[in-house]
Amino acid sequence: MQAFEFVRIDDPAAAIAEGAKSNTAQQGASVRFLAGGTTLVDLMKLNVERPERLLDINRLPLDKIEQLKEGGLRIGAMVRNSDLAHHPVVQRDYSVLSQAILSGATVQLRNMATTAGNLLQRTRCVYFRDTAMACNKREPGSGCSAIHGFNRTLAILGTSDQCIATNPSDMNVALAALEATIHVQGAKGERRIAIGDFHLLPGDTPQRETVLEPGDLITHVTLPPPIAGSKQVYLKLRDRASYEFALASAAVVLSLAGEKVSRARIALGGVGTKPWRSPEAEAALDGQMANKESFRKAAEAALRDAQPQSQNGFKVELAKRCLAHALHMAATSGPA
Ligand SMILES: Cc1cc2nc3c(=O)[nH]c(=O)nc-3n(C[C@H](O)[C@H](O)[C@H](O)COP(=O)(O)OP(=O)(O)OC[C@H]3O[C@@H](n4cnc5c(N)ncnc54)[C@H](O)[C@@H]3O)c2cc1C
Ligand code: SF4
Repeated sequence: MQAFEFVRIDDPAAAIAEGAKSNTAQQGASVRFLAGGTTLVDLMKLNVERPERLLDINRLPLDKIEQLKEGGLRIGAMVRNSDLAHHPVVQRDYSVLSQAILSGATVQLRNMATTAGNLLQRTRCVYFRDTAMACNKREPGSGCSAIHGFNRTLAILGTSDQCIATNPSDMNVALAALEATIHVQGAKGERRIAIGDFHLLPGDTPQRETVLEPGDLITHVTLPPPIAGSKQVYLKLRDRASYEFALASAAVVLSLAGEKVSRARIALGGVGTKPWRSPEAEAALDGQMANKESFRKAAEAALRDAQPQSQNGFKVELAKRCLAHALHMAATSGPA
């Protein structure tokens, strides 16, 4: 691990001012915020991340979960994943988020991991984590070892000829289905970013993963008011039952009017280069009977543009079955 300076920060303004001295907020950043450390420290040990300065933001007052007067929920950036998943309002009104978080990692990791850190966790592509291998995301212009290499776990939606890495987060998939907003304070003031606009597709610049700029501090995430009576499911399919990332997952927030779908919000994980909201599947379900035939049609629509590689073609059918089954589970379950 490269030597670095460790700085404890007590005040958001100081964090922003110090963070703004970084050359970038993307791959290769010279200054990084340290939250739970479960992504960052791992990557520093592998020399994939080599910050010169580490700003410990664990003392910042960003660890509250609050119900908003106008409805909705405000989640501090430093709220630990365990606290979020077990919060009674999240379990009652946003259960898809609780289910998604609890499907990931381990109890110990979730006790450390934070809301902002989870939003910004990096891909698990094995070549990204191995500095001996070519990787456009880690070293722009060096090539992509995965496209003709081990790509079984990688993405089939949103890929480019430069990068096919999957966004590995479960939490992000639920936040996409819940239409979350990310709140950022930076050198130029405050911004609100819809989760769909927060992560970037790889295109020709896979090293650029989000819209964040140097000094941008995520302060909190907000969720809109809950949809009364909605049924919520997070279904995650993986190689083993725990301590494993998704091969395919689906977050579903479903409202029914009688036997018909009145509203569906759908996002997929394990298959996209970013948390993958599917307006195609949502439109395919609108006003349709809530039955297996409609659910399969929605799943077909969600995966219509899939572009599999040499080893991950199985994900197309897996993701379809995952989404169709998640919709069936939601439709036949009680309210959230
Ligand atoms: C063995 C293992 C298994 C795992 N399994 C899963 C899984 O199954 N599913 C899953 O979803 N995840 C899984 N994870 C990933 C885990 O969820 C993430 O590592 C964790 O959420 C990151 O949060 P953190 O607070 O530790 O982030 P950190 O490592 O502290 O930070 C991550 C990034 O976020 C930046 N950052 C942190 N806070 C802020 C802020 N407020 N503003 C701006 N930037 C910020 C940091 O600078 C850094 O670049 C696993 C991790 C491990 C190690
Ligand atoms: S898929 Fe992306 S992260 Fe993986 S080797 Fe290719 S460029 Fe790197």
